Amino acid sequence: MRKSIVLSTLLAFGCYLTEAKSYDTKVVILGGGVSGISAALNLTANGIDDIIMVEARDTLGGKAQDVPFADVNVELGCNWVQGLGTNPINQLALKYKLRTAVTDGDDVVFYGEKGKINATERYNEMNKYYEIMSEDAIKRVKKDQVDLAGNVGLDIAGWYAKDAIDEAIEYYVWDWEMGESPELSSTIFTVVNDQWTYGETSFGPGSDGDSFVIDPRGFKHIFQEEAKKVFVPNDKRLLLDTTVTKIEYNDKGVTVHTKNGDTIHAEYAITTFSVGVLQHKDIEWSPKLPAWKLEGIYGFHMATYTKIFMNFPTQFWDDNQFTVWVDPDQRGYYNAWQNLNAEGFLPKNSSSNIFFVTATQDLSYRIEAMTDEEVKDEIMVVLRRMYGNDIPEPTDFMFPRWHSNPLFRGSYSNWPIGEMDEHHVNMKAPLNNRVFFAGEATSAEYYGFLQGAWFSGAEAGLKVSKCVKGKCPVSEYYPEITNAKLHASAIRSTLSKK
Ligand SMILES: Cc1cc2nc3c(=O)[nH]c(=O)nc-3n(C[C@H](O)[C@H](O)[C@H](O)COP(=O)(O)OP(=O)(O)OC[C@H]3O[C@@H](n4cnc5c(N)ncnc54)[C@H](O)[C@@H]3O)c2cc1C
Repeated sequence: MRKSIVLSTLLAFGCYLTEAKSYDTKVVILGGGVSGISAALNLTANGIDDIIMVEARDTLGGKAQDVPFADVNVELGCNWVQGLGTNPINQLALKYKLRTAVTDGDDVVFYGEKGKINATERYNEMNKYYEIMSEDAIKRVKKDQVDLAGNVGLDIAGWYAKDAIDEAIEYYVWDWEMGESPELSSTIFTVVNDQWTYGETSFGPGSDGDSFVIDPRGFKHIFQEEAKKVFVPNDKRLLLDTTVTKIEYNDKGVTVHTKNGDTIHAEYAITTFSVGVLQHKDIEWSPKLPAWKLEGIYGFHMATYTKIFMNFPTQFWDDNQFTVWVDPDQRGYYNAWQNLNAEGFLPKNSSSNIFFVTATQDLSYRIEAMTDEEVKDEIMVVLRRMYGNDIPEPTDFMFPRWHSNPLFRGSYSNWPIGEMDEHHVNMKAPLNNRVFFAGEATSAEYYGFLQGAWFSGAEAGLKVSKCVKGKCPVSEYYPEITNAKLHASAIRSTLSKK
């Protein structure tokens, strides 16, 4: 890496002068989340250390973020190691002895306006229908049948949400995991994504499980420790607090422009920005992204999953790990609650009483535009409907706004109905074999999960190291995606008349 201070581009701000810097490097990694760290490790392992990593935040880890809350630390983003066994995230958690707790989604109690509801039988039925849907989806893949929206897949399997209790159960089983409703989601890819992570064929025996991170060092610890294998303290190759605004590319290389006026010239770039960031046009591209690329990026979904933390003077809720609120009017309205007071979650010396609720999709978008006080008030209305008017006000209240954050624009991706695997290939395909795309959304197998980020970074790192060594792999993309056969459509005859 070579750095030069370009005097001719000194920028004047008021009476201060800021030096705009210009860097030259072989590979620039854009984003210091899990996929960026994994790409850096892979490049280094392949002998390429002429790299620069650019990260807008003042620390590495991306969506692995924890903050002090009440007298503990809570995870704002990723919280579970999802899929155990040889899952690299599980292996890192074991390597760094990350403190985790076992969660059990079946340890759940349902509440409506008249108090507790016995919904266990129906909940078990939903899980049974979900299994049938999964088997059907695999058969569809084998027979090359088209995808179905999640609600259609469930319907065919025998599940139909016929009342508010069913809707609450369906939300808890589907939306609370995928971050979006069955209507928006693909059946086939939801099932395949699930199988890759939890089916024992990829991560081996014992991989069908999750562990919930409760470590005071935060989930980020394992990724930041790995990053230390690449970056020493004050490493000049790590540009923190540096926001990318523009990426220029051609078949010779890449120039990255930053908010503070710096430029980084690189032979290759790996962008790990979330698909939400790419969709929101937070980055300017020159030349503009081609249509096939836009089709890939915009077809995908960035879901929003918001944890809303509350600490109370006393525990007034059940000891179960999870509580589901059955709202009589709105599906998914402050539906899924998690009890951190349950055995084994809070440290023994903690005096906190933490009950947190998750919002997704439209509810997340709506509350992000509200003040904390307004959100707290409407949640307290729900809690009073569940537990009566005598419950205390929370002493601490906090939630992150992932969707409006320009560095994230959501929480994790969800494969929507209508997105074909060719679209996904296009989202990931490099530009001119110079700009490579990584990040959890680019993993066809593990999108949404940390392991998706990890594998995608490693894959991009490997491809770019081959390019640096003059053996760039051929990357496929689909200039036009055509499978609209319109067999039964009146449109075909309309077109033939034109
Ligand atoms: C609420 C929530 C819950 C989740 N729960 C789980 C879970 O339990 N288990 C699980 O496996 N996964 C979970 N995930 C998903 C998981 O966190 C992500 O898949 C993973 O962290 C994505 O890593 P990444 O490197 O692809 O992207 P990111 O973490 O988004 O990294 C991209 C980096 O780019 C930086 N950046 C963005 N724009 C710019 C710019 N213009 N200039 C410079 N830098 C920029 C960002 O600051 C960020 O550090 C959750 C995520 C959230 C938000």
